[in-house]
Amino acid sequence: MSMTEGERMQLAQRVAAVREQMAQAARQAGRDPADIHLCAVCKGHASGTVALSADLAIDCFGENRMQEMRVHLDDGAYGGKPCHFIGHLQTNKVRQVVGSASLIQSVDSLRLLRAIGAEAERRGIVQDILLQLNIGDEQSKTGAAKDDLWPLLEGASALQHVQVRGLMAIPPAFDNSPDSRRWFAMLRRLYEQAIDQGAPMDTLSMGMTDSFIAAIQEGATLVRVGRAIYGERGR
Ligand SMILES: *Cc1c(COP(=O)(O)O)cnc(C)c1O
Repeated sequence: MSMTEGERMQLAQRVAAVREQMAQAARQAGRDPADIHLCAVCKGHASGTVALSADLAIDCFGENRMQEMRVHLDDGAYGGKPCHFIGHLQTNKVRQVVGSASLIQSVDSLRLLRAIGAEAERRGIVQDILLQLNIGDEQSKTGAAKDDLWPLLEGASALQHVQVRGLMAIPPAFDNSPDSRRWFAMLRRLYEQAIDQGAPMDTLSMGMTDSFIAAIQEGATLVRVGRAIYGERGR
C-alpha cells in the first residue's frame, strides 16, 4: 500500500468514526442525523491531505487563516466542496474572503459586518455569515459580547448584501461537566430567541473535536472538527 493510500484510508476511517458518533449523539437527542453538518477544519494541513479527504462524508471545510484558505483554494484541495472561514477576520482582509468562503462564521462587530456588506455589494452577491459570540466572556477570545447580539442583528438587517444564517461560539475549555455543557445550552437559547424574534436563522455552529457530541446533544446543527479527522496539527 502506498503512503497516499494509507493516509487516505486513515482519513476515511476517522471521518466514518466521527460521523458515527455524530449520528449516535443526534439519535440520543431525538434528532435526525441528517440535520447535522460536519465542517472539517483543515488548518495547518497540506493541500494534498485536504484533497484526500474531499470526497469523504464531510459537508464543508473550515479555515482560520486567510492565506492558507487561498492556497487550498488555488490547489483545488476542496474538490468543489464549500469552504467556511472560521478565524479572526480583520476588516482590511475582507476582500480576500468575501465570495470565496460560502459562510463567514466569525463576524463579531458592526464594523466587520459593514465591511463585508460593502464588498459583497461590490461583487453583486449576498454573503452568508454567522455572528460569533464570546459566550464565556473570556478575555483571551474574540467574538462579540452576548449583549451585542441584538444590536448586531439589527445592524445586519439593514444590510442587503449580508445574510445572518446563525450563531457560532468557541466556549471555555470543555471537560464534559454540566458546567462546561451549559455554554452550549446558553448559545442555543440565544439562537432560539433570535429565531423567535424573526431572524431567519438555520445554523448553530458549536462543538469541536473534544466537545462535538455534547454540542449536538445541546442543539448544534454544524460541528467544526479538526484533530479527530486530520490528527494533531504540526504547529
Ligand atoms: C481549530 C478550530 C476548530 C477545530 O478544533 P479541533 O480541536 O482540532 O477539532 C474549530 N473551530 C475553530 C474556530 C478552530 O479554530
